[in-house]
Amino acid sequence: MGQPSEPINLRETGAEVRLFPRERWSALRPVAMALLVRTRAARAEVPGVPLFETSPNFVPNHQVPQIEARTTFREACQVLSARAVCDFVLLEGGRPSRFVMGKELAEVAVGKADGNPNVLDGYLQTEVGRLIRQFGQTVTMPIGNVEPNTEDVSLREKGATILAVRSVEQDLGWYLGDNNILANLTRRIVYICKLDHRNYDPDHGTCGVCPYPIIRTDWE
Ligand SMILES: [Zn+2]
Repeated sequence: MGQPSEPINLRETGAEVRLFPRERWSALRPVAMALLVRTRAARAEVPGVPLFETSPNFVPNHQVPQIEARTTFREACQVLSARAVCDFVLLEGGRPSRFVMGKELAEVAVGKADGNPNVLDGYLQTEVGRLIRQFGQTVTMPIGNVEPNTEDVSLREKGATILAVRSVEQDLGWYLGDNNILANLTRRIVYICKLDHRNYDPDHGTCGVCPYPIIRTDWE
């Protein structure tokens, strides 16, 4: 318990305390020790700790596909299935424009096709950005921006939803403030035919096992 002779990097311990010169250590020791006993879970309550280190609502960039608006809905479905997620960020001209709830988009498309595989196939051949405009924005959410060192607690209090977590240098990932979206993100969309076969891919509006049309969607 003797005084350390070198500056201590408390940051490694998880406390939001940087390098301390020896002479300041004595005065700040009680504060530093109080921070040291915090568990990792409690770290989100420490102001200024980066969201990407602490927030349970943060997901890194690579977990959310970014799909250009000009991509066909069919290709978008294939990306989601291959990546085993149900949501994506819609890019317009290379820039994130809306967060798309892919399961809801698929549900609307299948619902409007109403068992007609040709209608569903028509949607699948349509650019996904156009399809979203056609169906209305209810299958999407707006995207805001947030600095990585913003307090998690304050974001919760504000009821923040979808935020791009961006530092000056880079895009780090996404803050998904909606717990349902967060919980469902890594579930695949399943397309179900008239005979209850479950498909990961809507193909051309029909089942991959039998000749019947896709009539509803479900989670994996
Ligand atoms: Zn079938």
